[in-house]
Amino acid sequence: MQEFAIDIAAESPCNECGTIVPLDVSSCPSCQGNTHRLGFDTFFADLDHMRMMDARHGGLVLGRGGPEDDIPMYLYAGKGFFELAGLMQGGEYLLSRAASISHGALLEEINSEKGEAKDESHAFSAFSSVINTNFMPEFGGLWIRRQQFIVNRFATQKHFATLEKINAEANWGGAKG
Ligand SMILES: [Zn+2]
Repeated sequence: MQEFAIDIAAESPCNECGTIVPLDVSSCPSCQGNTHRLGFDTFFADLDHMRMMDARHGGLVLGRGGPEDDIPMYLYAGKGFFELAGLMQGGEYLLSRAASISHGALLEEINSEKGEAKDESHAFSAFSSVINTNFMPEFGGLWIRRQQFIVNRFATQKHFATLEKINAEANWGGAKG
């Protein structure tokens, strides 16, 4: 019988400066950058307790729609742990990795439109993808993959239908609406 085994690292390089930092240290001793990481046990316990939400398919992120980026995103770093990849806010659109790779230029163009998002309503359809953080605890996070593109709130509001379409089409099953 094959055994399921993961080679879990004890340390990993800081994203900012490359200094090797032990997994239980959450601030880089060299540059003070955030090196917060979660082991498999902690990550999947968080998922089970709904402190973590799977956002890898992409969609409109709801909740915590204030002016600050306060929704942490985690991605699998290999070697049995997840690392903090950045912060986002409700009202932004998180594309799947497949959609981000297929439509990079278009997404850059859409996201270059900056402004103040005033209208919080969106024209949802039965095929909309929504990542709802409203019922998550304060520090609850999102599980993402590398290269997932995030569109700012203003541009999301303005180009919502386009974002939904390209995200749906790039994912398994495709767009139906
Ligand atoms: Zn560092």
